[in-house]
Amino acid sequence: MSDKKSVIIIGAGPAGLTAAYELTKKGNKVTVIESTGSVGGMAKSFELFGQIVDCGPHRFFSSDKIVNDLFHEVVEDDYTLVNRLTRIYYKNKFFDYPLKLGNVLKNLSPLEIIQILWSYAFQRVFGKKNLDTFEDWVTDKFGKKLFQMFFKTYSEKLWGISCDQIDSDWAAQRIKKLSLYEAVKAAIFGNKGNKHKTLVDQFAYPKHGTGEVYEKMARSIIDKGGEILFNKKIKEIEVVDKTVKSLTDENGIVYTADIIISTMPLTLLLQGMSVIDQNILNLSKKLYFRNTTLVYLEVDSNQLFPDNWIYVHSPEVKHGRITNFRNWCPSINKEKDTTILCMEFWSFDHEELWGYSDEQLAELAAKEIRTLNLIQTSSNILNTSVMRIPKCYPVYETGYMENLQPVVDYLKGFKNLYPIGRYGSFKYNNQDHSILMGILIARQIETGRDQNLWSINTDSDYQEQTEINLTGYNI
Ligand SMILES: Cc1cc2nc3c(=O)[nH]c(=O)nc-3n(C[C@H](O)[C@H](O)[C@H](O)COP(=O)(O)OP(=O)(O)OC[C@H]3O[C@@H](n4cnc5c(N)ncnc54)[C@H](O)[C@@H]3O)c2cc1C
Repeated sequence: MSDKKSVIIIGAGPAGLTAAYELTKKGNKVTVIESTGSVGGMAKSFELFGQIVDCGPHRFFSSDKIVNDLFHEVVEDDYTLVNRLTRIYYKNKFFDYPLKLGNVLKNLSPLEIIQILWSYAFQRVFGKKNLDTFEDWVTDKFGKKLFQMFFKTYSEKLWGISCDQIDSDWAAQRIKKLSLYEAVKAAIFGNKGNKHKTLVDQFAYPKHGTGEVYEKMARSIIDKGGEILFNKKIKEIEVVDKTVKSLTDENGIVYTADIIISTMPLTLLLQGMSVIDQNILNLSKKLYFRNTTLVYLEVDSNQLFPDNWIYVHSPEVKHGRITNFRNWCPSINKEKDTTILCMEFWSFDHEELWGYSDEQLAELAAKEIRTLNLIQTSSNILNTSVMRIPKCYPVYETGYMENLQPVVDYLKGFKNLYPIGRYGSFKYNNQDHSILMGILIARQIETGRDQNLWSINTDSDYQEQTEINLTGYNI
């Protein structure tokens, strides 16, 4: 008899597909159940107005060798290195991001520069010891003035809560090792002493969009005998004695397997269980997510602005980021002469914006892009399209771990259930973190050895300085 297990994976995003890819390579019987009609989850690519686009900007980067090896194994040579240009738009000015000293000095008044230096010095002498909130953590590293200029407005647009309610975990995961000293040093000396390009300058991008990684994985999974079922949303999880016995989708179809890997939202997984500790269920209901609405505009120009994307800090507009797909790689533009922009709006379920119609969103986006003067008055918007991504960002409200940790401990007691991924494990993952979770869960199932999955992306190092060369990452 074969010792290989049957595995059901809920969700065909980066985490779920990576697990399926690895498990089918080892001969396991794998079924992926996906609620939408395509693979890639939030990292999918798709055709729009005759070109290829992603769900907002999707830059793949990792300093982890096993993640990069997998990227190369799957994508092979079908990628290119994209020159990165990203800027911050704040108070009618563009600031290079990462910050460059000359550019910062040019954009700021002498008074603002004095305020930055003073607030940094003040922080060094009188700073708080307890850095539990995002605001305190960033202020401690950069001083109050820089926090207000470069962190506050953007973060509050993104998370929808004040920075003193955001947990410092978010800062620790994303900007851990930066300090004003290091930022200034990098701004003055740049990358000159380093003969290699770093991820600050360039990133690897599949020639047909970031989702090509997952389309290729899907082909391999099917070639190796796995199956991917589309348009099937898992609703109910039958639990007996901390073991998942079956799953039921919204059409009442029942599925069974030895092992279940879940990348569906953690909160909905718990709410769908037939048996659950009431205290755990109540704690899980305190965890919440922020939604994203993407508004795509096709503009009749091929030269709008040079950035891959722009962070829009300015509080006078609602959107927070604009991607320009003209500036990624020519193969996704498919020789068309127009430019597709993608504007990101964030909201909670109860906010008016989440209920806006497509027409209202298109109108708002057009008004805001013209307010910022990012398209010429002579340019026309030819087409618009809207995509809504519910539960996109797990909100790290201060103290959220008091609710999450008991849930994690409870789920660790399950015999055959493994929640992974961005909303699957309530972690603010990038693709690389979800891919790593997929690799490690497959390894755990194969070897029976615990891979400590819940610790991934809790304390990641700042990765921007990883070197790359023309054949890829140089680890
Ligand atoms: C606007 C934006 C920009 C981003 N930029 C970057 C970037 O630059 N670099 C980067 O690396 N990452 C970026 N990310 C993050 C990246 O997209 C995610 O980290 C990654 O997609 C997470 O993969 P996942 O598999 O964990 O989750 P997901 O991609 O969310 O996949 C989960 C899958 O499960 C399916 N599903 C959910 N519920 C059910 C159910 N009940 N039954 C069946 N299926 C279900 C979903 O449809 C989805 O396909 C960005 C994300 C967004 C939204």
